[in-house]
Amino acid sequence: MRFLQEHKRLIGGGLAAILAGGLLGYGIRMEIELLIMNRMLRGELAGERQTASAERNYYENLLSLASSTNQNLQQHLQGEQSRNNAIESQVLQLSGNVNQLTQLQNTDPQLLEKYSRVYFLNENYQPKSLTAIDSSYLYNPKRTEQFLAPALPYLLSLMNAAKIAGIDLKIASAYRSFGTQAALHTEYLVTYGIGTNQFSAEEGYSEHQLGTAADFITSPMTALTTTFASTSAYAWLQSNAYKYGFVLSYPKGNPYYIFEPWHWRFVGVSLATWLYQSNQSFYDVSQRTINQYLISIFN
Ligand SMILES: [Zn+2]
Repeated sequence: MRFLQEHKRLIGGGLAAILAGGLLGYGIRMEIELLIMNRMLRGELAGERQTASAERNYYENLLSLASSTNQNLQQHLQGEQSRNNAIESQVLQLSGNVNQLTQLQNTDPQLLEKYSRVYFLNENYQPKSLTAIDSSYLYNPKRTEQFLAPALPYLLSLMNAAKIAGIDLKIASAYRSFGTQAALHTEYLVTYGIGTNQFSAEEGYSEHQLGTAADFITSPMTALTTTFASTSAYAWLQSNAYKYGFVLSYPKGNPYYIFEPWHWRFVGVSLATWLYQSNQSFYDVSQRTINQYLISIFN
């Protein structure tokens, strides 16, 4: 009985212990589970944080990539634009060169050709376009004098400027065809004799055949003589003709021809100005140097 009682007590105690232990165990387990859950939550949180951080990094990288791509694109675009600009300017330059070439092709190279006793214009040479000079500018208004059309405005500007300056200046002769020249030459020979103009450029009249040469005269002169050199008209021409593109072809003391103070040739303002400023005459300069001015002869 005692055993039973003891047993009962034991059982009871055991049960109580078991119960208590169970309760205790349950409590501990709960606590552990809570700890685990807590840890898990923390872990998850940490994981979430890591994920969030990774995502942030990912997006930041993406943004940075996008930004650098954008920069690259912009640089590329700028490169393309400057390449296009370079191409455009090259095209413009090329078309400018083509325009200049066309201009040069359309400019008669004979207009700046130097002539000599051994090199004259072909007898069949004809200027491209001739225009009659208004008779008010002529020494003999009854005659018809012509000048190369694009050079005529320069001649008339010179004549008008001389008039404004109070200089009596008239055109005695301008364009002469080869036929007219030959006839005149014979006439000159008859009038003055072979010795008179033997060494004169007027013999060949090449520059007159171009349509860009003019013989000037002033009162009271009636013929083309070296007397013209002592007139105020000649002095005015010496100081001003270059402004209108005219040069004295055969100055005093030139090694080619006799002095022809009346004979002036249109060579363009830039060449005439350069010759005036450098104190050189047309026939002293090399043909190569002169040719550089052909393109700007009517500028
Ligand atoms: Zn002449």
